[in-house]
Amino acid sequence: MAKYIFVTGGVTSSLGKGIIAASLAKLLQARGFKVTIQKFDPYINVDPGTLNPYEHGECYVTEDGAETDLDLGHYERYLNIYTSQLNNVTTGRIYQTVINKERAGEFLGKTVQVVPHITDEIKSRMLKLGQDNAYDIVITEIGGTVGDIESLPFIEAVRQLQWELPDEDLVVVHLTLIPYLRAAKELKTKPTQHSVKMMSETGVHPDIIVCRTEEPLNNDIKRKIALFCNVKQDAVIEAMDASTIYEVPLLMLREKLDVICLRKLGVTIFPEPELEKWKLFLDKLKYPKSKVTIGLIGKYIELQDAYKSILESFIHAGAMNETKVQIVNVHSEFITPENVADKLSGLDGLLVAPGFGHRGIEGKITAVQYARENGLPFFGICLGMQMAVIEFARNVLGLKDAHSTEMKEDTPHPVINMMEEQKQVTMKGGTMRLGAYPCVIREGSMAHRIYETTEISERHRHRYEFNNAYLEQFEAAGMMATGRNPETGLVEIMEIPSHPYFIGVQYHPELKSTVENPAPLFVKFVLAVKRYNEQKGQLIGSVLATSTKGTA
Ligand code: GLN
Repeated sequence: MAKYIFVTGGVTSSLGKGIIAASLAKLLQARGFKVTIQKFDPYINVDPGTLNPYEHGECYVTEDGAETDLDLGHYERYLNIYTSQLNNVTTGRIYQTVINKERAGEFLGKTVQVVPHITDEIKSRMLKLGQDNAYDIVITEIGGTVGDIESLPFIEAVRQLQWELPDEDLVVVHLTLIPYLRAAKELKTKPTQHSVKMMSETGVHPDIIVCRTEEPLNNDIKRKIALFCNVKQDAVIEAMDASTIYEVPLLMLREKLDVICLRKLGVTIFPEPELEKWKLFLDKLKYPKSKVTIGLIGKYIELQDAYKSILESFIHAGAMNETKVQIVNVHSEFITPENVADKLSGLDGLLVAPGFGHRGIEGKITAVQYARENGLPFFGICLGMQMAVIEFARNVLGLKDAHSTEMKEDTPHPVINMMEEQKQVTMKGGTMRLGAYPCVIREGSMAHRIYETTEISERHRHRYEFNNAYLEQFEAAGMMATGRNPETGLVEIMEIPSHPYFIGVQYHPELKSTVENPAPLFVKFVLAVKRYNEQKGQLIGSVLATSTKGTA
């Protein structure tokens, strides 16, 4: 049987519970334990797949096609493991299961209630990943903030487990905020006291309190928190703001968060953590040798969480290239043929982001045209690849008004079309083409040079695809389908070999980029962007040299 760590949050949301949970998991993994993390979200949506990115940030997709909370992305990026359908559970999913059981007559005439039926379902899912010996430790992050009405059944389930499992099989870590009042030059512990008190009233008392803070916690503050919140003083952990989320595991190591958890779990003998690769990555990240600027063309740019995995992939790829990747967000809605040169000036590369719906589409197409015509390194992901196809159709093949049927159903040239299997689908939730599919890469192509193999598997989340009826026309004009699904022939990769670096992919490579295994498409894109930047520098250098000569 595995041991269980629960991570709850107090005082306010957005304290970085996912990062603390992932950092703790990383440390335990580095000490040789088999660890996984799951997230329990209190909302009623069955999964976040139908949520607008403005509501909840990016929807992360697992290998097995679960549409999940973006924290699962952090878990995979930190631990270099795959998560699955089992790792993200919402209140909606719990109720759906219980109601289906009730309809099937499984409760034998009983009144179905939050306690015990809903809490039983929550508990069984909380324990599930720990039951087949695959993991030594299962960490469960509970979404929301203690005190929210929605999260009460989850906390109640933890209370029951505290009572049902042996004492040394379960530990509760509570993350809170210690605000710093600048005027008084003081750290304040009262919100934490209240939050722990509120949690204790529900019957769950934290074993460890992790304190998010801008200023270091001195011993007096730690003692005060320990005294009022009834935990040991060394179980009060300081979590200072860090310059990068990838530094947090090392901060938590210094504070002994992992050791204190293990001690509570009755584990006394464990090796030193093996974190060499992690530290090397962090060094490269913190001390880059060069800098590039990449434009992210999207329509949800006001909310950084909407493109979380893409931004993190650039961090991994940047470190790999010892280059700082500065991302400039460009709102696709405001790009026009008149201002495109101005809007994209100073960029060393362009990434056109995934997305849905009509808004900002023409701006994306204009940006792609600029990159194609000006030799600017281009990388299109999902909708970004589809826009590259439309741009090529309109401006190279001369197929006026070519479009995707997602945006214009009656387009005369549907170069992007709804997938056959999608045409019958009426329900919105969980019905896209989701999860990992194989792709075979053409020998000698740029994609081949990027991946250094011809067989890959990448994750998907889309309903539309390249229309193969146009394939010959595209290839004859120089845009090549260099990656295809081996069974269906569905186009997965499009590239323009005559361009210095132009590639679009139907899948989402950002979902598989981890600290230890950065996604090849991001690594090579950053490399291309770096070369472009250097050449631009040389070009400017030579222009300056001639002009200096001219004036001399
Ligand atoms: N809206 C497009 C489709 O469904 C692209 C989806 C995406 O970018 N993830 O095919």
